[in-house]
Amino acid sequence: MPDNSSLLLATKNLYKSYVSDEGLLSILSGGKRIPALNGVSLEIQEGEILGLTGESGSGKSALGRIIAGLDKPDRGVVMFMGKPLSGQSEAEVKKARRYLRFISEENFSGLNQVAKNRLDNLLYEMVDRYSGAGGKAEAHALADELVDKFGIPQEFLSRYPNQISGGQRQRYAIARAFATQPRLVVADEPVSNLDLNSRTEILDKMLAVGRRFGTAFLFISHNLSMVRYFAAKGRTAIMFGGRIMEIVPTARLFEFSAHPYTRNLLEINPSPSPLPGAALDPAQALAEYEHYQENDPALATLESEASNLSFQGNFAAAAQLTAASQPGCVFYRWCTERVEECGKVSPTLSPVAFKRGDKSTPIPLSEAEANPHHLVACLHYGKE
Ligand code: SF4
Repeated sequence: MPDNSSLLLATKNLYKSYVSDEGLLSILSGGKRIPALNGVSLEIQEGEILGLTGESGSGKSALGRIIAGLDKPDRGVVMFMGKPLSGQSEAEVKKARRYLRFISEENFSGLNQVAKNRLDNLLYEMVDRYSGAGGKAEAHALADELVDKFGIPQEFLSRYPNQISGGQRQRYAIARAFATQPRLVVADEPVSNLDLNSRTEILDKMLAVGRRFGTAFLFISHNLSMVRYFAAKGRTAIMFGGRIMEIVPTARLFEFSAHPYTRNLLEINPSPSPLPGAALDPAQALAEYEHYQENDPALATLESEASNLSFQGNFAAAAQLTAASQPGCVFYRWCTERVEECGKVSPTLSPVAFKRGDKSTPIPLSEAEANPHHLVACLHYGKE
């Protein structure tokens, strides 16, 4: 939980936009730049697990890439270990690369592009660049141990990336990311290529290795059950239209979520359990979801249909265009709780302390409802 004494990463007012050349967005935007991020500020403490979820097009992967240093923001700054990621000296960039690792679909498919290099060479070349006081032998031993832990037999290391399966590449890439003992791992859909039975196994191993090295995580997934499982002891951030709508301690997610969009997202989350989410153990919820997904292929279709039906159309496209053209709350068009002010004032993330009643009279929340680590961007909530 955040205590501001061990700040590891902070983003300040990040903006990013791009020109879309495909699909509905291209037509609707008329060639203009479309915002992917609209002033995103968040903090991650040493060792903290922050889950990040939202629908496709909400900006979560754009945020992950900028935090990992793979893309530059149009405006705003990323501070990592007390220094801005951009404009650093070569030595500082090397240090940041050692301690800030990125795991995503790109790693897994990217491995195929370096098919000329054996897996052990790829692994040892990388750890040699960053090996610390213990020297190369110790770094290689740790890399071997991690590869083994994530389920890649040692003999596979003499193979080339295109000689192992997609799932094995995923396991290898995760092990490789941990081989430098990172302080922060940005993991964007890190188990997407694995079969359902292997997902929780790998997530558990990531958590265990993270505890061993004191690693913090930004764990990105569109799958709310997955985020809830991985970040069960941390916080969950919910994005929409390039903005963070809410950051809530994950244990409070189902019971105390405050933002109208988050509640909407929870309603369409296809948890098959008839129990209220708060009554479910996160592991049980994920296992139930995966069991149903495995046994009912129509569930994924239903999930996306439910999302589309709820908002009548291409939600992500509409949200991005709304963010570009409207001064107020980005969720205004869809919100059933909006008031006139919401169309003019853009709410910022504030700790949940009171709810505004009619005529803006503050209604204090109960001790259980209020929480300084629970932030929400909605004009109905505030800190005083
Ligand atoms: S600020 Fe207004 S429109 Fe936005 S989520 Fe809150 S109530 Fe809805």
